Amino acid sequence: MSHERSVAIDGPAGSGKSTVARGLARALGYRYVSTGDIYRALALAVLRNCIDPHNEKDVSSLARKVTIEVEESDDGSQITVLDGEDVSDLIKQPEVDAVVSPVSAHAEVRAWLVDLQRRLADERDVVMDGRDIGTVVLARSKHKFFLTASAEERARRRWKEYVAKGRNVDFDTVLKEVQARDTIDSGRAVAPLMVAPDAVVVDCTHMTVQEVIDEMLRKLGRADLCSTMS
Ligand code: C5P
Repeated sequence: MSHERSVAIDGPAGSGKSTVARGLARALGYRYVSTGDIYRALALAVLRNCIDPHNEKDVSSLARKVTIEVEESDDGSQITVLDGEDVSDLIKQPEVDAVVSPVSAHAEVRAWLVDLQRRLADERDVVMDGRDIGTVVLARSKHKFFLTASAEERARRRWKEYVAKGRNVDFDTVLKEVQARDTIDSGRAVAPLMVAPDAVVVDCTHMTVQEVIDEMLRKLGRADLCSTMS
């Protein structure tokens, strides 16, 4: 399948991709797929099995053993299922943040999980977010966005999410974690985070979620679906 109509959204950690992608999918009537949550599910399995996240052989063989599935909840968000267990909340923990980038840097792991992601896009038009969606997974999509914001703003958003969930994390720790993931995700040999040549770059440092969604809808030629007029 060509995936031409599906929408690819890439960007660094904390850029707001998932919130924007979910809202855009709802507006378009497409399915929302978070590929980050798929890598996170594997990272959780790595932690549970006490595997070294840097050990390509062990992580790859675990990736072949576990079952990762995604389902759609009534509000359009993604339910991520690891070996039959709903792990959607567990995979958002800081412990998973700390290992997900090394886990997802392995070539064999990526090949395995990219295949799963493409099969999801074969079933139905999707709005898919991640790091390599416009460059690799949905390279043939005609609708690609790269969403970015300053590292401080991205860390501030992530920190607020943790605080809202009652987690006691200090801002500098979150900023360092965001910067560390940026470095690994952009510097890795396989499918590094980069702007696809045909992607529209949206800097959302000073934009609300709805403003970003409306901007994307306009670029997609669907201004009729915008919630704000401009
Ligand atoms: O999107 P999120 O920040 O939850 O992704 C978690 C991690 O998963 C990223 O920091 C990156 O290491 C990895 N990832 C990836 N490729 C994707 C999506 C996520 O390598 N397409």
